[in-house]
Amino acid sequence: MAKLHVITYGCQMNEYDSERVAGLLRGERYELTDDEAQADLILVNTCAIREKAEAKVFSKLGELRALKARKPELVIGVMGCMAQLHQETIQQRAPQVDLVFGSPAIARVGDLVQRVRRGGRPVLETGEGPLVKITARPPAARRLKAFVTVMEGCEKCCTFCVVPTTRGRERSHPPEAIVAEVRSLAAEGCREVTLLGQTVNAYGRDLTPPTDLAELMARVGDVDAIERIRFTTSNPYNLTSKLIRALRDLPKVCEYFHLPLQSGANRVLERMNRGYTREGYLELVDRLRDAVPEMAFSTDLIVGFPGETEADFGATLDMVERVGYDNVFAFRYSRRPGTLAAAMPDQVADDVKASRNTRLLEVVNRVTAARSRRLAGRTVEVLVDGTSRKNAGELSGRTRCNRVVNFDGQGRVSVGDLAWVRVTEALPHSLRGTLVERPEEAACLSK
Ligand code: SF4
Repeated sequence: MAKLHVITYGCQMNEYDSERVAGLLRGERYELTDDEAQADLILVNTCAIREKAEAKVFSKLGELRALKARKPELVIGVMGCMAQLHQETIQQRAPQVDLVFGSPAIARVGDLVQRVRRGGRPVLETGEGPLVKITARPPAARRLKAFVTVMEGCEKCCTFCVVPTTRGRERSHPPEAIVAEVRSLAAEGCREVTLLGQTVNAYGRDLTPPTDLAELMARVGDVDAIERIRFTTSNPYNLTSKLIRALRDLPKVCEYFHLPLQSGANRVLERMNRGYTREGYLELVDRLRDAVPEMAFSTDLIVGFPGETEADFGATLDMVERVGYDNVFAFRYSRRPGTLAAAMPDQVADDVKASRNTRLLEVVNRVTAARSRRLAGRTVEVLVDGTSRKNAGELSGRTRCNRVVNFDGQGRVSVGDLAWVRVTEALPHSLRGTLVERPEEAACLSK
């Protein structure tokens, strides 16, 4: 079999796409290799969300130029968001690239590679394409957790974001196709699924008949072998009472909610065209905590958005304290070509962005460590997913609120088991604990 090597940058959606491509190419008699020097075909799955992400890709393509010089029959392909956004630039700056295709063209990857092999000249395939549910995946020993895409694209117009351009308009996969995919994953030993979408809580409104994420999660929850359901990424704009009730009432849905805020200042939220205010966001968090008291929140925050003042930045720090996040993904604003924000006056200087990012992370580390400490002495349900990175004699897994726990359970529980662990130590980014029988008053216990 020919050898395929896939290099993935960016989000979970890209990881999912890379798996799908590898699954489809297996049908073309390509098997995955971790060694790019062994590969007959190398695909680079790209991210265009920030300038830095793009720079990484071009430096990688530079490295691959040398490999291609030694192995002219090697086919190099670029896929993902940069392919959709910068196809000509890629061809100009990286002439060693034989194939450029966007995510809408993934279903035809086999044909595209054959066209390169037959034609011997670059193949370019970007633009919109039909929405296809691809469930092909490379064989895996045991897939305990899996991402499942439920929709593609986004119709929000956040002024800093390229996703609507790179991934197209919002399109949902039919619930039957998603449940079928979850069933086949469960048959392979999967116990936890993460439902993926750019604005996953807008799922289903474009379908006939329309449906929504609450109904979908109820159907996924009916798949017996699945123990846990997660979902990402949500937008506060589409958060409904029906979804909040589902989070309260569906036992398999975990108490972890990734809810990007982006900024704590209403002035900036308006310039970002986010469609909500800080007050509206806080009200949503309160309603969610009323419904699910154990809910852990994570978020995305951008510092240095054009026009962001010191007071605006202060409002962002204040929101981190008020919400009490368990995790925060902090980003410095990156000017993206073709976005409205890129043309805005009052671009913030890089050194100001850097200092605000550092100050934000100081507050984040303090707040998330306090959130971690609240679990000390309590007992948590853990899905065992392997051994501790630091100590092979220990097992490791995640709580329902998505915290890593390392504990002493070797020989008593195994990978794939749900175990009860009493937290003996709360570290900034993980917990340590000891295996116990199921206690009555456990925290993060299933509902
Ligand atoms: S909702 Fe998310 S994916 Fe959609 S435009 Fe806004 S930031 Fe981009």
